[in-house]
Amino acid sequence: MCKECWERIAKADDTEFLDSLELTHAERTVLEELYKHGETRIVEILELQGKALHDAILELSEELLIDIGELGKVLLSVQSGDLFTVQFEQAVYDAFTPMYHLAGESELTVLNTNKTWSTKNKAASRFAKNLKKLVPDMNGTSADVMTRAFQKAIKEGKTPSERALLVREISAAAAKGDAGPFNMERAITVSRTMSTAAANGGKMEGWKQSEVVTGKKWRSSKGDRTRKTHRKANGQVQPLNKPFEVGKSKLMFPGDPSGHAEEIIRCRCTMQSVME
Ligand SMILES: [Zn+2]
Repeated sequence: MCKECWERIAKADDTEFLDSLELTHAERTVLEELYKHGETRIVEILELQGKALHDAILELSEELLIDIGELGKVLLSVQSGDLFTVQFEQAVYDAFTPMYHLAGESELTVLNTNKTWSTKNKAASRFAKNLKKLVPDMNGTSADVMTRAFQKAIKEGKTPSERALLVREISAAAAKGDAGPFNMERAITVSRTMSTAAANGGKMEGWKQSEVVTGKKWRSSKGDRTRKTHRKANGQVQPLNKPFEVGKSKLMFPGDPSGHAEEIIRCRCTMQSVME
């Protein structure tokens, strides 16, 4: 799909998602800024990652270029190397932890004026830790995409040097962000996943601290890109301290970073509070 198409879809998803959070105008502005900031930073990191991968590919001999095992090793070293892991985790932390606090505080303020939101709460640091754990999961998914592209190139080439050339072309395209895991689409995927987790996670903590909310109701996002399992979860009510049953996963809230990647990546579902 074209870059503009992705951006348009993402924008529509964002608007719907942000609407469902029922924020004040000021809160929404802050949230949108944080969100944009996170996305920009992730785009930058992915660009650097793509270039690093391509540089490493260019250094391989023709023989190694058509060895999928060897390509996999190069990919892994770029993605799980300290440099990018640290940068990625930091970007995620900087952009999405404030979102968590914002969501939590805005819920708490409305529900119980006697309580004050503490930014140093234990749940927040637990959340930040879980969020960081998502990074390797998301890198794993993108490595699969890249490996498949390399495999395809190797199959398509008739002679070894033709195969090597095709592999180099694939990595060059990936480095430019034209295709593969280092493009805008992936940056959007990462920020959607993180922002859903942050907004819902913060919201739930705000409800807990309010001592007014007793339960939560899953609200699946509209549209045909919503997973079947999430559409099925629509309307499911659970006590605040019990997880939702979604597919084979137990999620404390939509996007819960401690859940399986297959149930959280790109999720745009939200929750409603339940009071007895
Ligand atoms: Zn969802």
